[in-house]
Amino acid sequence: MRTTLGTDGIRTEAEGLRGQLLRWRRHLHQHPEPSFQESETAAFIASELEAMGLQPSRPLAHAVMVDIGRPGRRRAALRADIDALPLQEETGLPFASTRPGYMHACGHDGHTAILLGVARLLSSRADSLPGQVRLLFQPAEEVPPGGAEAMIAAGVLDGVDAIAGLHLWATLTSGRAVATPGPAWAAADRFRAVVQGRAAHGAQPHRAIDALEAACRAVCALQTIVSRRVDPVQTAVVSVGTLHAGEAFNIIAGSATLEGTVRAFDEGVRRQVRTAVDDILRQTAAAAGAGLDLEYIDGYPPLVNDPEVTALTHRVAADVLGAGAVQAGPLEMAADDFGRFLQRVPGCYLTLGAGGADPAKAFPHHHPRFTIDEDVLPLGLAILAGVAMEMLTAS
Ligand SMILES: [Zn+2]
Ligand SMILES: [Zn+2]
Repeated sequence: MRTTLGTDGIRTEAEGLRGQLLRWRRHLHQHPEPSFQESETAAFIASELEAMGLQPSRPLAHAVMVDIGRPGRRRAALRADIDALPLQEETGLPFASTRPGYMHACGHDGHTAILLGVARLLSSRADSLPGQVRLLFQPAEEVPPGGAEAMIAAGVLDGVDAIAGLHLWATLTSGRAVATPGPAWAAADRFRAVVQGRAAHGAQPHRAIDALEAACRAVCALQTIVSRRVDPVQTAVVSVGTLHAGEAFNIIAGSATLEGTVRAFDEGVRRQVRTAVDDILRQTAAAAGAGLDLEYIDGYPPLVNDPEVTALTHRVAADVLGAGAVQAGPLEMAADDFGRFLQRVPGCYLTLGAGGADPAKAFPHHHPRFTIDEDVLPLGLAILAGVAMEMLTAS
C-alpha cells in the first residue's frame, strides 16, 4: 500500500528532517506572537526560506509566500497559519514561551515548521516538479476577520488550481488523520445584545422595565432555534456564553447584556439562525417594553472540502500513515479561515492527530497546558508534500 503513490522516498526524506523540524517548531514555540502582530515570526520564516535559496515574497506585512518549481500546467498551494494566542503557558516545557502572556496553544508552531519542511523537501526536487507549488504562511487565523481574506485580496490564489492544509489535532491519536469531503468545519458567528429597560427599586416592579427578566426569557427562547426552527437533519449550535445584569439584590436591572456564538455547516442554515436570533431578541425585548441593541458579527464561513481533492488527500495520507489510519469525519464544530480559500479554489483541510497514544489525556487546544506530539511533524510534512505533488499531476 505504501508504495502505490511513491511516498516512500518522501517519507524517508521527511524523517531525515526531524531534527530540523523540531528546531523550527521549538524556536517558534519560544517566540509566540498573537494575531496581527506576527512581525518576527514572518521575518523568521522568510529568512529560513532565503537560507534554502528560495525567494519569498510578503503579500501582507505579516504574511510570507514562496513559489517552488517552474510555472507549468498546474499550480498547487499549501497553507500554514502562524499566529499564537494571548495565553500564559503552563506546560513547564524546556522550550516554553519566553513571552509572558503569549503561547502557541493551537499547534500553529507545528504547522509553520511542517511547511518550512515542505519548502526544504520540495526545493531539493524543484527541477523535477511538473508544475509549481506555492507555500502560504498566513497570519491571524485565530481572530476574525482573519488573515486569509486579506491574503486572497492580495492575489495569493492567482493561478492556483488546488489548495491543501492541515491542522494538528490534540484530541486525535497521533498518526491518525481526518479528511472529510464536503462541509467539514463549522461557520462561527457571534452576537452581543444589550436589553435596554428601566431600573427601579426591587419593591416597586411596576415602575421598572426589568431587563434581566427579559434577557432570561430571551436566553431560553434562543434555545428553541435549534430544537424548533432548524431542519432536524441539519446541524446548528446556538450557545449563550455570558449574561450580565444588575448591581444590587434589591434593584431591578435597567439593562442586561448577553453574548453568544452560532455554528452551522450550511450557509442557508447559517442565515436562518441569524434571522431567528434577531427576531427572538427583538420581540422578547419588545414584549417587555424594553429596547434592544444587537451586534451580530459574521465570523468564518463553513469550511467545505472538495470531494476530489479530499479523495486525493485521503489516498496520500493513507499511503503515509497506513491504510485504515485515515477517516472521513467526524465533523468539526470549530472554525478556521482556511474555509475562505476553499470558497475560491477546490481543496482539502486535513486534521492530523497529535494527541499521543491516548488523546483522552491530552489537554485541548487553547489550554495553557496544550502541547503537540512532535513525532507527527515528519508525517505532516510527508503528507503535505505528497498531496502537493499529486495535485500537480492530477488531471
Ligand atoms: Zn486555535
Ligand atoms: Zn488552530
